[in-house]
Amino acid sequence: MTVHNNWSDDNAEKIVDYYLAKGISKDLALRTYSAQLLGSDPELVLHGGGNTSVKSSCNDIVGNNINVLHVKGSGWDLGTIEPEGHPAVKLEPLLELRNLESLTDEDMVSSQRQNLLNPNSPNPSVETLLHAFIPKKFIDHTHSLAILALANQPDAINLCKKIFGTKVAIVPYVMPGFELAKVAAKEYEKAQNNCKLKGEEIEGMVLINHGLFSFGDTAKSSYENMIKLVNLAEKNLKRKIN
Ligand code: ZN
Repeated sequence: MTVHNNWSDDNAEKIVDYYLAKGISKDLALRTYSAQLLGSDPELVLHGGGNTSVKSSCNDIVGNNINVLHVKGSGWDLGTIEPEGHPAVKLEPLLELRNLESLTDEDMVSSQRQNLLNPNSPNPSVETLLHAFIPKKFIDHTHSLAILALANQPDAINLCKKIFGTKVAIVPYVMPGFELAKVAAKEYEKAQNNCKLKGEEIEGMVLINHGLFSFGDTAKSSYENMIKLVNLAEKNLKRKIN
């Protein structure tokens, strides 16, 4: 089934105006809009699944401007998410964690919580570090059925390389958590360096037996990359089955 691009510049503008009036930044307003678009399409996101982020900056309580990662908090559904569903976590301390050899899930969750700007926010997604380590402004992540079906084929890595080409990084299966975030960041950097040599821009990342990430400098380009990559997977699945 083809996944439709439901982005509307008019609607995006209206949502930005609506949230700006409530003191919400443009970055977070657009993040909210495209997360809702992804979450409203059951082909892309099953209820409660998927997670999204945007890197931005905001003022802390004493007025210092700091870099933050707004990342989906647990308990929110993308289809109905509101700005507070992407709590702000200080970005620099998250990036420092990458220097560690290992990190238990408990320590990962508590360091993510410690760096929340608002301590009353829900727990940031278990995939927060992956979002943090990839230096793209907007990141969308789904466990779309088409990608799962493709990534579950034998020799999935080579199959995915053939289908998606060089603008998509391919990550072998690793359990979600710190280790996955490190492996994915390394694969991202390899693919991104290859893209740069060719004057191209990386569009996304397939995680074998797990799902798909798309990237963009804008909410719109990240969303459109997601739609494009899922449709590419759908097309190749059909070809394989017929
Ligand atoms: Zn995931």
